[in-house]
Amino acid sequence: MSKQNLLIYNTLSRTKQLFTPIVEGRVGMYVCGPTVYGDAHLGHARPAITFDLLFRYLQHLGYKVRYVRNITDVGHLEHDADEGEDKIAKKARLEELEPMEVAQYYANRFHDAMKALNCLPPSIEPHATGHIIEQIQLVKEILENGYAYESQGSVYFDVDKYNERYRYGKLSGRNLTDVINNSRELEGQSEKHNQVDFALWKAAQPEHIMRWPSPWSNGFPGWHCECTAMGRKYLGSHFDIHGGGMDLVFPHHECEIAQAVASQGDDMVKYWMHCNMVTIGGQKMGKSLGNFITLNEFFTGSHEKLSQAYSPMTIRFFILQAHYRSTVDFSNEALQAAEKGLQRLMNAIADLKRITASKESDAETHRVASELRQKCYDAMNDDLASPTVISHLFEATNTVNRVLDHKGSISAEDLEDFASTMHLFAEEILGLLPLGATEGASPAREEAFGHVVDMLLEQRAIAKANKDWTTSDRIRNELTALGFEIKDGKDGSTWTLNK
Ligand SMILES: [Zn+2]
Repeated sequence: MSKQNLLIYNTLSRTKQLFTPIVEGRVGMYVCGPTVYGDAHLGHARPAITFDLLFRYLQHLGYKVRYVRNITDVGHLEHDADEGEDKIAKKARLEELEPMEVAQYYANRFHDAMKALNCLPPSIEPHATGHIIEQIQLVKEILENGYAYESQGSVYFDVDKYNERYRYGKLSGRNLTDVINNSRELEGQSEKHNQVDFALWKAAQPEHIMRWPSPWSNGFPGWHCECTAMGRKYLGSHFDIHGGGMDLVFPHHECEIAQAVASQGDDMVKYWMHCNMVTIGGQKMGKSLGNFITLNEFFTGSHEKLSQAYSPMTIRFFILQAHYRSTVDFSNEALQAAEKGLQRLMNAIADLKRITASKESDAETHRVASELRQKCYDAMNDDLASPTVISHLFEATNTVNRVLDHKGSISAEDLEDFASTMHLFAEEILGLLPLGATEGASPAREEAFGHVVDMLLEQRAIAKANKDWTTSDRIRNELTALGFEIKDGKDGSTWTLNK
């Protein structure tokens, strides 16, 4: 397996490209993080899980990865426009809390949800409010280079001027005329020269409570500034990957490119990666549309659209069953199917420990075992094709179940291959937690209970050998009543827990 084979889709070139890092052996990756003024919903889980998959895989390939994911705690205005109230300040006034108290509260809840989804924490998680100086510096550079202008204490990016030399719209494939035609004329935008210009710095209104001094006014940075300033601070003026949801391509990432080019002469990012949306009834699930279901509501089942609670691992598996560039449509049926599929896969991984190896594998088992690892690598290397990886793991699951049903045999070597490959791809790379690792149970504890069940089955085997049918039936019936499924075969009995 060569780490040179990873292809990733670059939104900028609209093609899959061979991934080659700027600095050998190292990867710099920046992902737009949450705006902390509300609970994370299923739509937020998607980029978190997608880029966790990439983070895990790059590390597995041996790269030293610096993964930066920001926390937006200021400056993201309502309707994604430059006017209106700051979302965090508005929530704070409504609840009579300090803005930072709101930000901290939701950041903590976001971290809890990420941990439940088994998303690894990023290497650095910078806050926008902690980087006002860097953002002011960025605005100064853009002003000095002539791509911005000051107007009534605010600073705006001069899109027309920029477009004379560069191309605003190259990431999203829009041209300036389209952008102008699609921009709404909002009240109070008269201080802009052109309606497509976007704010780099905004003078704060008297009632605005989140504000900082700057050369232009007491105010706050425009939303797009933080990622450009913090990406450069922690990953350098050129880094490998910038990711986020597809809804960020325009205007957020388009503006980030313009800011980088206007300040330093070229873009900072080599590969732009975007995951698709989660839809509900075919419509984007989002805060602004009010059709979202929070992750906590999924975990507890407390939402009218949910027919049951879904575990964090079911949510993770559900997201990974679709390719990250396809949409995922929410439905209870799809989630229930994901729950069953996940259980079948994780049962098979646990059951591998209970298989006794034979001298040789049957031909089909040997084929599946010997091809599995490379097939999974090929799928991951093809732009992180997680659904294909899952289909290969299901083929392996069917083989494991066939051997358990004594319809096939497996050699010690093939068994070891299965165990290590399934563990690697399901647990390490897809990040699915083993059975019993959630809800407070520990794998060691589960294993101990498993040994107790094995001991009971041994006692039952002894009873059967002694023709003590009362004891053997009683053990079987009581285990069945507890939810264990006992399968008797010629080499003894095996069990699975259907809970
Ligand atoms: Zn961003």
